[in-house]
Amino acid sequence: MTNFVVETATPKGFKLKLNTGLFINNEFVAGANTIDTINPATGEVIAAVQAAEAKQVDDAVNAAEKAYHDVWSKTNGKERCRLMNKLADLIDRDNEELAQIESLDNGKGISFSRGFDAKQIAITLRYFAGWADKIHGKIIEIDGALSYTRHEPLGVCGAIIPWNFPLMMLGWKLGPALCTGNVVVVKTSELTPLSALKVAELVKEAGFPPGVINIITGYGAIAGDALARHMKVSKLAFTGSTAVGRMIMKASSESNLKKVTLELGGKSPNIIFDDADLDQAVAWAHKGIFFNHGQCCCAGSRVYVQESIYEEFLEKFKAYTSKTKLGDPHDDATYQGPQVSQVQYDRIMGYIEAGKKEGATCVLGGKRWGDKGYFIEPTIFTDVTEKMTIMQEEIFGPVVAICKFKDVDDAIEKAHDTTYGLAAAVFTKDIARAVDVSNRLQAGTVWVNCYNELDYQTPFGGYKQSGIGRENGEYALDNYIQVKTVKINVNRQAY
Ligand code: NAD
Ligand code: MN
Repeated sequence: MTNFVVETATPKGFKLKLNTGLFINNEFVAGANTIDTINPATGEVIAAVQAAEAKQVDDAVNAAEKAYHDVWSKTNGKERCRLMNKLADLIDRDNEELAQIESLDNGKGISFSRGFDAKQIAITLRYFAGWADKIHGKIIEIDGALSYTRHEPLGVCGAIIPWNFPLMMLGWKLGPALCTGNVVVVKTSELTPLSALKVAELVKEAGFPPGVINIITGYGAIAGDALARHMKVSKLAFTGSTAVGRMIMKASSESNLKKVTLELGGKSPNIIFDDADLDQAVAWAHKGIFFNHGQCCCAGSRVYVQESIYEEFLEKFKAYTSKTKLGDPHDDATYQGPQVSQVQYDRIMGYIEAGKKEGATCVLGGKRWGDKGYFIEPTIFTDVTEKMTIMQEEIFGPVVAICKFKDVDDAIEKAHDTTYGLAAAVFTKDIARAVDVSNRLQAGTVWVNCYNELDYQTPFGGYKQSGIGRENGEYALDNYIQVKTVKINVNRQAY
């Protein structure tokens, strides 16, 4: 192993050169120890990656701070835009390789890794690159003085990202931070570190100055915690569980009061009225929960169907779901691959058992699929009540509950019976009802007649305990600037 490159191949023979070092100052370097990353389709080790502890986190932050001070704070928007676009071009050039790595490490179907994840990071970087030369303050008219604001960067921004969309999450964090003039230290998930480390190689090739983008992995409680507590990190963006989100805020309050944005969990309701296009509602509801094997923070895990169409919907949804194509992540036709890890597999199976024990009826799935890897059959529960564990807690797997409702008020009341508020959906042909229900739902995103449609131009984030702040779109920029007021006296007299 030279320079922390591991040569391997996917089970289908696609040759890969994996980077396994910590990416600090545009070099791959050693960690404090190593973590084995697993292929979730087989349970076999892919490679050992270098893992950071507090010392390496400190090295990464210091490299970032120096890069900010010496270079990036003097780099204009036009140049930041050029570098970000260059990185996006290289990501597109290496789309296939990045997709193969993502499917190997995460288990998602290769057609999604290619067409969604590896595309989204490039698209997101390009979108934010376009903002880089459009970051500016305002003139505010006041008496006797000239007053204007400057939108200044924060300096070193930390990001802690999860394993469900490793590449896309990297794009969501890098894009707004870099275009606004910040430098970044990203800690990837210890379960899926490999795709971001391939992007790291492209960061160097694109010509980013050393230290502007640092990408490290390590355990959350060690490396993640060190980043969240670091005194030189001005802002931290976190995506993951609500439990860890709480720890991030605590770490900030106990250190330097760094600004924190949180994208946390959900238990999102999908409300289907009796006038909806039923076949479309079935297809979107399926995507709503089973896309990415149910490992979406905005997954539509509680489907509420109006009484009069409940039986028909359920039959159609069962038939549609039973055709879900499970299989090898490296097959083009695979819709659903394995869950990301043994831990997640066990957690989801635990929820399925809890559902049965508490009296819900499992009408489809509920079992392991195949005889190796962490596959779980798409699972449908009925006869649920709002207080059941599977209706209150985020399962983060291919498990959905289908429930009945009477009318608009009943639907809204049930939809709101959760501590979360990330997303929701409404299916109806009645425009007035669609708007009324959308306005009333406590959720950061409401989809009408679709589900899980994420676009880099539109803000995304949570109401209630689903998070703080918004990512994507123009709104995301606010998280990465600090506003300075400059006031120049024209004709005010001292008194
Ligand atoms: P997690 O929240 O533990 O992990 C997310 C990231 O946070 C990882 O990079 C992890 O290393 C890091 N982390 C963990 N503990 C930390 C700490 N104390 N300080 C700083 N960083 C820390 O999520 P998980 O354990 O991988 O998954 C558990 C559950 O979280 C899932 O079942 C799901 O409900 C939820 N989840 C949500 C999302 C999302 O997109 N909102 C993503 C992943 C997981
Ligand atoms: Mn893995």
